[in-house]
Amino acid sequence: NASSPPLSTEVKSAANSHGTTSLSLSPYYNEIMDKLRGVFKLSQFRTNQLEAITAALDGRDVFVLMPTGGGKSLCFQLPALCTSGKTKGVTVVVSPLLALMKDQVDNLHKKRINALLSNAETVGEDWQQLVKSENKPDLWYVTPEKLRDSPKVNEILSILYRNQKLARFVIDEAHCISTWGQDFRDAYTALGSLREKYPSVPIMALTATANRRTVADIVLQLRLKDHASFTQSFNRPNLKYYVKNKKGESVIVDIAGFIQSKHNGEAGVIYCNTRAKCESVAASLRERGLSAAHFHAGMPTEEKEFTVHSWQKGTALVIVATIAFGMGIDKADVRFVIHHDMPKSMSGYYQETGRAGRDGKPADCVMYYSGGDASRLMSQIKKTEGVTQDSIERQVNAVLEVMQFAQNTSECRRVQILRHFDEDFSKADCARGCDTCEADRELISTNVTQHAQAALTVVHLLQSRGDSITLPQLRAILRGSKNVETLSKQHDQLQQHGHCKELPKELLELMLSSLISYNMLTNTRRANRSGFHTDYLELGPNAQELLDNERDFVLNWHRNAEQPTKAPKRKKKLAGTESISAPAPRKGKKKAVIDDDPIEAPDDMY
Ligand code: ADP
Ligand code: MG
Ligand code: ZN
Repeated sequence: NASSPPLSTEVKSAANSHGTTSLSLSPYYNEIMDKLRGVFKLSQFRTNQLEAITAALDGRDVFVLMPTGGGKSLCFQLPALCTSGKTKGVTVVVSPLLALMKDQVDNLHKKRINALLSNAETVGEDWQQLVKSENKPDLWYVTPEKLRDSPKVNEILSILYRNQKLARFVIDEAHCISTWGQDFRDAYTALGSLREKYPSVPIMALTATANRRTVADIVLQLRLKDHASFTQSFNRPNLKYYVKNKKGESVIVDIAGFIQSKHNGEAGVIYCNTRAKCESVAASLRERGLSAAHFHAGMPTEEKEFTVHSWQKGTALVIVATIAFGMGIDKADVRFVIHHDMPKSMSGYYQETGRAGRDGKPADCVMYYSGGDASRLMSQIKKTEGVTQDSIERQVNAVLEVMQFAQNTSECRRVQILRHFDEDFSKADCARGCDTCEADRELISTNVTQHAQAALTVVHLLQSRGDSITLPQLRAILRGSKNVETLSKQHDQLQQHGHCKELPKELLELMLSSLISYNMLTNTRRANRSGFHTDYLELGPNAQELLDNERDFVLNWHRNAEQPTKAPKRKKKLAGTESISAPAPRKGKKKAVIDDDPIEAPDDMY
């Protein structure tokens, strides 16, 4: 049953479809402004908030794509309090993390807003407040699991629906519904039936993490119809991005020096990949006189709450945490986010760095990277038990993407980050807001037409044989790699094998990413033999003109100022033997420690 894609009204900005004037003429405007000032104590709206709120009160389905910290909560919390909208009653909010919901509901209670949170312990209460009481909550927060599994919750919903007491469904972090993303949540799939069960109730979906594919998936799965769509640039102009080489023990000295010289007395977050690392880094920083505390999912709840609380109050300034920390943590004045260990995906990197500078004032994001860390992370992922091969492959690819980002010192960091969200960003707009733009090194112009042709030819050859090729495989072939596990033997007999061996690494990376951004190559996601979805390269619409020698392919690039830390040399088997992935993990003691200190996944507290 091929359902046609739902119609949508694309509203890119306030000026586009309904201008500011018509917004202020809407029948809801006065009430909206009253609530903004009276209840939320805010003076003005941020980009797209008023637009999304107005569309919601108009009874429309709404899709909101806003960067972390952009203010998505207000888009559904405010209309939930309005009585002038086309639909009235309870706003049902679905969100993936209990901790995040608790946080929101606590904040709502402080504003004297009647909000209710349903979790495993509150079953009896729900019925009382939602069915019996005349004074029903304006917002009802439910976990996706409860919505899917609890007969009681579904009975309450049916009763409310029958009595026309459901104002709208709100799906926060809506990307969790999509299997494309890293955060796929099984229970979110069940949200697809809301439209069918409650056809007259509008749906609002919000997310910060979505490329075009994911957006389309969200719209399709939630069956949004004729929805108003509000998207905006993901650029965070007040954040500066730096990637630094990670050199063993000096990292702590570097971090402490950075904080003391640039962020003395200011709040920040340092991300580490393991619990033990969080504790040791926090301790080292304290030894150096900094106010630091650690946070990870292995701590007792009270200790976690105490730590978060003291950080939010400002009694602890630096929090050293795994990625269990952060989602929904509401602190506006975070002045720096440091990745002591590399993030596991570009989406993760964006989200974690996104916690800096939510107040719009300047903030720094520093990532420490080493090839050794990357390969350790990958081998850790490969050893994870109880997960499918697909999931492992997906995670490894995500790490490869971060590696590519860290090693690409030719391109503006912002350009690279935003490309991940399918956004074309102009380097000039970075305003020297990243390490590569700031470096302002000598720009080298190199004609790589032949190399680029070789790359396209490889893809063309394999495509015409009915074979598939991924970006890492293409890179390996061009570099003349002989030991790429995923490649079949015959590929190293290609004439193009090793054709780009002489190109500096950073130039090759730039060439490959440019081929994609110029639409000479496209990355298309398809299922492989085991059913797992991988990005495969295909020739893009502009490939032919390059293959036909109709144009030159000239790249402007920077030579790497400092080479990313080389991992220990492995034994050379054959001349020219090289691995596409980062070097093998370190042997011995260090690895053993890491093995029983598992890399931490987001804490979902169920
Ligand atoms: P998101 O869910 O998009 O990550 P939040 O809804 O948690 O963002 O909001 C981030 C921060 O921005 C919060 O501290 C919130 O109070 C603040 N905020 C939201 N809207 C406004 C506004 N119009 N003016 C000032 N601050 C706002
Ligand atoms: Mg949010
Ligand atoms: Zn830049």
